[in-house]
Amino acid sequence: MTISDEVRRLIERLSPAPICDDCISERLGLSVRQHANHKTRELAGTKGFERRKDACAICGVTKLVIRHSGHC
Ligand SMILES: [Zn+2]
Repeated sequence: MTISDEVRRLIERLSPAPICDDCISERLGLSVRQHANHKTRELAGTKGFERRKDACAICGVTKLVIRHSGHC
């Protein structure tokens, strides 16, 4: 399983709650913060995923988060 898959699965599992890049990195044990950032940017262009400024469901901080909104 690639990191992209892991990130996507994590977001889908939390759906419809949003999660920030930092929490994704922490949850998946990613060493480089940029890594999660790059993956969420990638996912944001994918159907069903949206990236926006909101309160993260994990840390509660309002920042750029990503969530899975659709179920198709
Ligand atoms: Zn967070």
